[in-house]
Order: sequence, then C-alpha cells, then structure tokens
Amino acid sequence: MDSIRDNLQKVKDNIEKNVRKAGRDPESVTLIAVSKTHPASDVMKAYELGVRDFGENKVQELMDKYDKLPKDIRWHMIGHLQKNKVKYLIGKVCLIHSVDSFELAKVIDKESAKNGLVTDILIEVNVSGEESKFGVAPGDLCNLLKEISLLPNVRVKGLMTVAPYVEDAEQNRQHFVALRQLAIDINSQNIDNIYIEMLSMGMSGDYEVAVQEGARFVRVGTGIFGARNYNISL
Ligand SMILES: *Cc1c(COP(=O)(O)O)cnc(C)c1O
Repeated sequence: MDSIRDNLQKVKDNIEKNVRKAGRDPESVTLIAVSKTHPASDVMKAYELGVRDFGENKVQELMDKYDKLPKDIRWHMIGHLQKNKVKYLIGKVCLIHSVDSFELAKVIDKESAKNGLVTDILIEVNVSGEESKFGVAPGDLCNLLKEISLLPNVRVKGLMTVAPYVEDAEQNRQHFVALRQLAIDINSQNIDNIYIEMLSMGMSGDYEVAVQEGARFVRVGTGIFGARNYNISL
C-alpha cells in the first residue's frame, strides 16, 4: 500500500493550486508533515519522497524519532511544551511553534544560551478564543512580544494558531485572516527585535484556505499519514 505517496502528492498539488490562486510564490509555503503517533518507518517513507520538514507534538516522541532518523530532517515542535522538557529540544528542533508565555520563552532562552544557540520560535495565538485552546489571547500578544524581545537567545519568527475543528474549512478563514492582521498590526508597532515574517496555520481540514490567506507553514498530519491511532506503541 503506497497511500503516503498518493496522499503527499495530493496535498502538494492542492498547496500549489491555492498558492497560485492567491498569487503567491510557490516557494513561500512549506509543508510540515505532522508525524505524531506514526512510526519512524512512515516518516522515512515521506523522507524518501523528499519531505524534510516534520512536526511532532510530544518531546519524547520527537527525540525518539530524532535519534532514529536522518539528521537533515527539520523537526518542528508544534505541541504544548512544558518548561522542564525544553532542555531536551534545544539544538534538535528548527522551530518551536507553540510558545505562549514569557515563562516558557525565558526557559528556552536560558537553555539556548547554555548551548551557545539562538532558538527560533513562533508565538501561538488563540485567535478563535476557544477556551480549550492553548495560545496567548490576541490582546496580550503585544506585551508578550515586548517582553520576549529582550531575551537574547530566542528569536521570534512569527505567529502560529490552531483553528477549531470545523466541517467547512471556510469557517476558519476568519481566524487565518485575523492572524495575518495581527502580524500586520504588530509589525506596524516597530518593536525592537520583533518582525513577524511567518504564519503557521492550516491543518488537514483547512490548509487550502490557510494557504490562500498567507500561511508560511501548513501542518498536515492525517492528510498525509492517514488517521491516527493513539494506542499503538512506537
Ligand atoms: C496534530 C496537529 C496537526 C495536524 O493535524 P491533522 O488534522 O492531522 O492534519 C497540526 N497542528 C497541530 C498543532 C497538531 O497538534
């Protein structure tokens, strides 16, 4: 069964179609294959098909795969991150998408400094206002960025959001537009050391709309690897 190949091709075609529709440069969108719960062998299949960006939402799982898989993979930490686990990630991930507090940013800064590194991060924003979601409230974003901008070993590259689960992807367009607008607002404030250049938004159900609205990263799991089974052991 070669469904990963077929799925991946379909997702890439859809991204390409929508990137053109939006009049954007095809190079301006990066597909992150979200491999959480799927075995390293599935990651390897996608790798052999040319994918280099993979997303995981748990530190332990990311580290296990990091150890087993080729070192030119760019790992993206996309899940809620506990402060005590930050130290394991530094130097292994190319981007942490899920920073939503100054306390977490401070730990990333400290651990990065220990390793002589600067870690690239995105700030997760809860644009939909769903109570169950992680992420800073839009109204608190500016102050959070001002605080984080003073940390020398983290570099804010952009914003990330997880939109609600919806039947019709069009319902999430408003949230993607809101994230893009927030980026414009923030950039117009000229905070020292802060320039929002990347938006991480769109998942299997709504990545096409997210691409139309300016996503730099789309995070697609099910659409590439199929349904997740949370009970399998890796
Ligand atoms: C699991 C996950 C995804 C991918 O979800 P799919 O619907 O399977 O594409 C994207 N972003 C985050 C933050 C996730 O946790």
